[in-house]
Amino acid sequence: MEKEFVGTCTLCGKSVYCHNGFLEGVVQENHTLVCFACQNKTEEDKSL
Ligand SMILES: [Zn+2]
Repeated sequence: MEKEFVGTCTLCGKSVYCHNGFLEGVVQENHTLVCFACQNKTEEDKSL
């Protein structure tokens, strides 16, 4: 399986990889990389 290191999550420091073109996280508008777990937290914070 093709697994490419993209960077580290700016919030939790976890390594974020790209699997066959599928990114494990999200690049935000300010170009910071966050993993899905932290992205979900951010979404929850926004909706509160
Ligand atoms: Zn994270």
